[in-house]
Amino acid sequence: MIDTHCHIDEEAYAADREEVLARQQESGVEAMIVPGVNAASVTTVLEVCHAHPGYCFPALGLHPEDVKAGWEEQLAVVEEAIRAHRNELVAIGEIGLDYYWDKTYKEEQKEVLRRQLLLARELNLPVILHNREATEDMLTIVREITNYELRITNYGLRITNYESRITNYGLRGVFHCFNGSRETAEQILGMGFYIGIGGVLTFKNCKLADTLSQLNKQRVLEQIVLETDAPYMAPVPHRGERNESRFMRHVAERLAEVFDTTPEDIIALTTRNARTLFGI
Ligand SMILES: [Zn+2]
Repeated sequence: MIDTHCHIDEEAYAADREEVLARQQESGVEAMIVPGVNAASVTTVLEVCHAHPGYCFPALGLHPEDVKAGWEEQLAVVEEAIRAHRNELVAIGEIGLDYYWDKTYKEEQKEVLRRQLLLARELNLPVILHNREATEDMLTIVREITNYELRITNYGLRITNYESRITNYGLRGVFHCFNGSRETAEQILGMGFYIGIGGVLTFKNCKLADTLSQLNKQRVLEQIVLETDAPYMAPVPHRGERNESRFMRHVAERLAEVFDTTPEDIIALTTRNARTLFGI
């Protein structure tokens, strides 16, 4: 199993981080991706990843909830760190839009997202996308950056343009903690992006299982990855506890029910998908 979204650098693990990490390794978690959220987490993410090379893989980015007063300085620090550490990063993230808590900086959130998506294109890195109550703007901006590339390549070689079209211009990534509609899922998969499935799938009254079962099984199984978003979003029967990567097993079991296969099959497929997307 690979946990494609784990905030193991956060304060919640300050007291027992090494024990938690050892426990994941013993429980069949092969690797985890540790996304940054702001300027301060550049240090914490890199620190834990340097201490666990080949196990914890770093991503850096400015999270939409951290786009508030002083965001320009935050973004400058994060962008500089992304460039400086390009070769060890497996993604830019987590980045995106969040209109749930606060819409004050809505326009700034969009601007920050655009700039980080362009940086991902420039540096050829996948993106880890956070979306809450902002699906329409999110899809519009992801497409806009795709078209931005089209405009550039139109002035270049035709053949480049043609090849770029096939690979979605290299802009690739995951919609993390997916819990949207069937239509949204189809648009995401159609753009060649992955969907990250976490604890939400196991929650009572959650429609996600129904949504997933309505999608083209073969396609979705090629474009889903497992994640925790730990320390948050622990799956049933650990709901409310501090989350750990090994709890993804419960998500894999639920996915196996949805797709009428075995948890081992789901684990093998999602591990392969995570390795393909993040190049680990
Ligand atoms: Zn997160």
